[in-house]
Amino acid sequence: MEYELTSDIIEKYMKAGKAVAHALKLSYQIARPGTNMGDLAKVLEDDILAQGAEGLAFPANLGINHIAAHYSPVIKEQQVLPEHGLLKIDLGGHVDGYVADAAVTINLGNDRGIYSDLIKAAKDALYTAISLAKPGVNIRTIGAAIQVEIEKYKDLTPVSNLGGHRVSRWDLHGSPFIPNVGSGLENYILKEGDQIAIEPFSTNGYGAIRNGKEITIFEVKNIHKKKNLPQIERIRLKKFKEKFGAFPFSPRWVDFIPEEKVNDVILKYYRQGILQGYNVFVERAQGLVAQHEHTLLITKEGAIPTTWWEDFDYHKLWQ
Ligand code: MN
Ligand code: MN
Repeated sequence: MEYELTSDIIEKYMKAGKAVAHALKLSYQIARPGTNMGDLAKVLEDDILAQGAEGLAFPANLGINHIAAHYSPVIKEQQVLPEHGLLKIDLGGHVDGYVADAAVTINLGNDRGIYSDLIKAAKDALYTAISLAKPGVNIRTIGAAIQVEIEKYKDLTPVSNLGGHRVSRWDLHGSPFIPNVGSGLENYILKEGDQIAIEPFSTNGYGAIRNGKEITIFEVKNIHKKKNLPQIERIRLKKFKEKFGAFPFSPRWVDFIPEEKVNDVILKYYRQGILQGYNVFVERAQGLVAQHEHTLLITKEGAIPTTWWEDFDYHKLWQ
């Protein structure tokens, strides 16, 4: 699905982006060792909504160290942020279905250089990618540039099987996949009006992720799969569809089932194929992972990051 970027659509993208950017900026002030991860996710998700997003595009992803993505705090989360380590915060919101998807990595302390290198590598790579993302540029060129930036740092490499993606109305992950390496087979030329997210991941590990066992993020997949369900089940499934039909959700958000039953109900629907689950992504060699991400609108002059939270003017990145 593709859309022309009208001023009305741009405004919605910018509004969603501004809300996510605000929450990311806030995260630098409130993410501290000892902070309960469930509390942190809730504060950030609430902030996205308070700042003008109409809804969340996915649950707050909080990835510690070798967890690259897809961990969102669970109901009654017990984990707190560690004394040292890398915390990736990946947040999403939407206005009228137009998505903002962006991420930062925060150094929780005591790094001996490696944490800040991983963060700088991911950030450099993202800024280079933004500077290149213009009509006429092949996404393979962007992937290659991301790899070069990350590999300028000793012992660091990109995560090759994660990458950016198209965003469009009510659609978080469209194709093309935007690679973080130069060796892939992707072949797509950016054009004016494209709406994409770019997300370089740097690691000192193997350079790829695998699926972990845990699933903390779900999405409504096929609500009509089951016929002849009792009425209570049908009503329940209708609620899942109404509340979470468009985007991935967290069991934390299910407020129409008693809290102590939510996980069992979700597990049942997952096993029945009604819900889809997103496994946690773990670095294959347990390497540390950093990530930075922005959502971009591709204009004639250059890429406009809708989720810009940085203190300098992004126009400086335009070449
Ligand atoms: Mn993201
Ligand atoms: Mn993304």
